[in-house]
Amino acid sequence: MTAAYEVTIIGGGPAGLAAAIAADKAGARVLLIEREARLGGILKQCIHDGFGLLRFEEKLSGPEYAYRFIHELPQTHVEVRTLSFVTRISAIAGTSDERRLSSGESLQGFVVTITSARGMETISTKTLILSTGCRERTARQVAIHGVRLAGVLTAGSAQYYTNILGQLPCRRCVILGSGDIGLIMARRLHLEGAEVLGVYEAKPTPSGLSRNIAQCLDDFDIPLHLSKTVTRTFGDKRLEAVEIMSVNEAMEPIPGTEERIECDGLILSVGLIPENELAERIGVPLSVLTKGPVCDQHNMTKIPGVFSCGNALQVNDLVEYVSESGETAGRAAAAFAACKEVPALPRYAEICPGKDILAVTPQLVNLDALEDRITVFFRVREERSSVRVRFALEHSGGPIELFSRNYQRLRPPEMERIILNLKNITLSEHTRIIITVETVN
Ligand SMILES: Cc1cc2nc3c(=O)[nH]c(=O)nc-3n(C[C@H](O)[C@H](O)[C@H](O)COP(=O)(O)OP(=O)(O)OC[C@H]3O[C@@H](n4cnc5c(N)ncnc54)[C@H](O)[C@@H]3O)c2cc1C
Repeated sequence: MTAAYEVTIIGGGPAGLAAAIAADKAGARVLLIEREARLGGILKQCIHDGFGLLRFEEKLSGPEYAYRFIHELPQTHVEVRTLSFVTRISAIAGTSDERRLSSGESLQGFVVTITSARGMETISTKTLILSTGCRERTARQVAIHGVRLAGVLTAGSAQYYTNILGQLPCRRCVILGSGDIGLIMARRLHLEGAEVLGVYEAKPTPSGLSRNIAQCLDDFDIPLHLSKTVTRTFGDKRLEAVEIMSVNEAMEPIPGTEERIECDGLILSVGLIPENELAERIGVPLSVLTKGPVCDQHNMTKIPGVFSCGNALQVNDLVEYVSESGETAGRAAAAFAACKEVPALPRYAEICPGKDILAVTPQLVNLDALEDRITVFFRVREERSSVRVRFALEHSGGPIELFSRNYQRLRPPEMERIILNLKNITLSEHTRIIITVETVN
């Protein structure tokens, strides 16, 4: 079966857009599939500014940032299909990846099943880029007792009601979780006239970026309550009140600290999870740390020909990193598709997080497609001040340092980006690059 497309991208958010443009520039025949009517992904509803400072040196809103990429599309050969939902992907030649990975059997490409107003159809493609974004955790995924009530909604849904539909979802609300979307929605709802009673965070430190705490809460006198959580909701059909309790270090509610707050809105900002249902169905191995696919420096997953980028790969705090990861995947997928022969299974060295590292990408260094410099993203597990982060090769004679940098402060919500120079470094399949964090005085 001849693949109709060389690169097929699922998801038309900033990651997918950047991937499509990069793959087209690299000469591939590209299809970009998006389930919604318009491209831009979640940025369509992010009408606040702060996007694009790194990339364009301008403060753009989400839609403005997305437009910078969307308006490039007519100058490319990228075929775009909106209102098209990818429901299934499978490997051509009837091989599952596990059989392929264990037997070394070659994949010839993939079949993508699309559901749209035209009905159900399939297309074939040499490579796939998964840029399906992420999902928000819901009230059911955190321990809140009570029935399903109107007025309890995720921060993303509240953002959609307010910014896209122009409808205020509540008049007096509590925000649970101090993630960035919750902080941004606290300010947004306040500006729209809702009474925002406070942001409640179970952890002892806030989860969002420092600039969002200052600009969204402090500037509007919205209180932030740490080590507190919502344990119950009250109401019949509509939310009438919530119960707040203090939590201990293990995040367990402390008996006797119950407090009832009357409100008609509970906005949840309790975490994002990379969306990888399609990836999992073809057996792409996921990282327990990032919840996205384990990938190499070109964002290729452990299934050759399948790439991942943006929030599907790992939850990002800066949209510029999302675009960068899309471009990496787009270029690499085009190069992979251009190979006349199906490349052999890659050989990998590993990048391993030490105990103080929460997550790292890539986790693998593809030794068969190695360039001198590779970009690595990481987050620390806990807030740390005056530290040195070190990347070192594990070696019997003691670690060999590849890179180190001192940081005044590192926080888990803030993803760090470094360039690892591997020129003149001999790596093999047994090589492990370990990342450690040590305090400096
Ligand atoms: C609710 C929410 C609000 C956010 N607000 C902010 C913010 O204010 N500021 C900020 O810096 N960052 C924000 N982020 C982070 C933001 O998601 C990223 O910066 C960036 O937009 C992620 O880009 P992406 O392309 O990876 O994913 P997305 O922008 O989520 O795009 C993924 C796209 O894939 C499509 N898709 C998914 N599955 C399929 C399928 N099976 N078939 C076809 N199409 C599919 C979706 O419809 C979507 O358009 C927010 C994230 C969320 C979830």
